[in-house]
Amino acid sequence: MDEVKSNKDYNPEMHSAEHILNQTMVRMFNRGRSFSNHIEKKKSKCDYHFDRNLTESEVESINKKVNEVIKQDLSVTEEYFHREEAIANFKLSQLPEDAGDTIRIIKIGDYDACPCSGVHVSSTKEIGKFQIISTSYEKSVLRVRFKLVKE
Ligand SMILES: [Zn+2]
Repeated sequence: MDEVKSNKDYNPEMHSAEHILNQTMVRMFNRGRSFSNHIEKKKSKCDYHFDRNLTESEVESINKKVNEVIKQDLSVTEEYFHREEAIANFKLSQLPEDAGDTIRIIKIGDYDACPCSGVHVSSTKEIGKFQIISTSYEKSVLRVRFKLVKE
């Protein structure tokens, strides 16, 4: 994940929004976090293993939920765990292959916890307003494109 940090377009707000979007997708559809993504300042995209495109009302629900979480102004904190402890406590299915014995878990209040080595905002209000631009579906992959609007 170090390559993320060296990307000049890397944006902590966008990346933190990605965490919240992923947790929202997990809670709504129980199909796991995005397996691939491209995060940039102007717009980002996340890909999910899925079986169809989203409906308009689902897109609305996701926008609403992500923005509710942002508005709660949750603290974004880091904690370190031993590998086994992290796997047991956070139902981790996909640890980065290069992860060592100590795993850094990023928590967004009580809403999300996930292993990550990236740079994040310190509280969710810094993210701004989340908005899905479009979604598409092809070959079992749902792509969600989104942007952030400063209020
Ligand atoms: Zn992260």
